[in-house]
Amino acid sequence: MSSRISSAFFLVFLLLAGALGALYYVKAEWTPPTVSVTPEHPTVSSRTVFTVTAADEGAGLRTLLVTATQNGAPVEIVNKTLPEGTRELSEQFSLPKAGIKNGPLSLSVTVKDASWHRLGRGNRVDIVRDVTVDSKPPVISVLSGQHNVNQGGTGLVVYSTDEELAQSGVRMGEHFFPGYPYQPGKYLCFFAIPYDADTAALTPALVASDVAGNEVSIGFFFNPRVKKFKHDSINVSENFLQSKMGQFVQYYPDLTQPIDIFIKVNSELRAKNVATLLQLGRDTVPQMLWSGSFIRLPNSAPMAGFADNRTYMHQGQAVDNQTHLGVDLASLATAPVPAGNTGRVILAEFMGIYGNVVVLDHGFGVQSLYSHLSEIHVHKGETVQRGQIIGKTGATGMAGGDHLHFGMLVSGLQVQPIEWWDDHWIKDNITSKLQ
Ligand SMILES: [Zn+2]
Repeated sequence: MSSRISSAFFLVFLLLAGALGALYYVKAEWTPPTVSVTPEHPTVSSRTVFTVTAADEGAGLRTLLVTATQNGAPVEIVNKTLPEGTRELSEQFSLPKAGIKNGPLSLSVTVKDASWHRLGRGNRVDIVRDVTVDSKPPVISVLSGQHNVNQGGTGLVVYSTDEELAQSGVRMGEHFFPGYPYQPGKYLCFFAIPYDADTAALTPALVASDVAGNEVSIGFFFNPRVKKFKHDSINVSENFLQSKMGQFVQYYPDLTQPIDIFIKVNSELRAKNVATLLQLGRDTVPQMLWSGSFIRLPNSAPMAGFADNRTYMHQGQAVDNQTHLGVDLASLATAPVPAGNTGRVILAEFMGIYGNVVVLDHGFGVQSLYSHLSEIHVHKGETVQRGQIIGKTGATGMAGGDHLHFGMLVSGLQVQPIEWWDDHWIKDNITSKLQ
């Protein structure tokens, strides 16, 4: 009798143990979480924002602990228990502002999952990173002396630093012109005064930040030269509307009146195209691909200038007002168009008001634009030589007659092209600063 009872108990015990074992087998998964910590560079400051990213497919994440240790004294930065079932985690943290000294620091990140493995302590991942704390901003020295810059024109500042920079450049009002390394320890930055800037109120700053995130901003000698730009009135004729608006119907299928399409194209599409050029300004290489002055379309007459302000008249009414941001050059119809200088083709297609357009990148943010072409002879990605024929003049896009609209850009901002055709200007403002 008693042996029967005890064997029944033993059976129940076996079943319970089996069930517990199975439960432990399920809950005690052995796969540790995946954990990464960014950024990975070895120099940091209290401005550095770290991100811990962790994931656990099995039991889920349980705890996150971040400590920083200097001279053997650990400081807790994050200590978190995560809600049950947390599969993913992205947590940002920075070093404490107080109590951290410049010098070596050990950063330790520990993530545990909710597994029953290791008698309920879970799977554990430790990341230890030895970094150097640097809270000292870079020291910038301006090497170029004169920065006499025309309104709407280009300037060049050359500077050196005492440590590697993560980013630098010139802040001019709302515009930022990136600088680039060009020799060991030396940087250069092409910048511009926007044609519509209030020159009296402009105080450009040369800003730089090191890899640890320490930032410095300094002024530099700067002499803006105020320029007056022309004002023009342009008559939008029925003939122009009939012959030109067909290209743009695709963008505004709801509009039936050619004048309504014109107003949309001239304002909205123009602004969109200008924004695209600003973006393209970042598609540049940290090299000077060009040399010498830029080539102006041979045997051509100027028809319109940079920053001409235009009021558009239709049937005696002012319908729009815009600023022309290039130089119009007229030669014979379908005249061959030479590349102003050596560069990379970064755009070669139909683009809104510019029609068939080629944009060349000459490096360090300097770019040139050839618009209203009847033919394009180059492809994106190709390198072209100074003077190489890249297409033929035409009247595609918003052009009344066959001409070349030539533009120059500095980090995507359209600037006065005349300077770039001038050997003396280039020598005084660019090449002499780089020697
Ligand atoms: Zn033009």
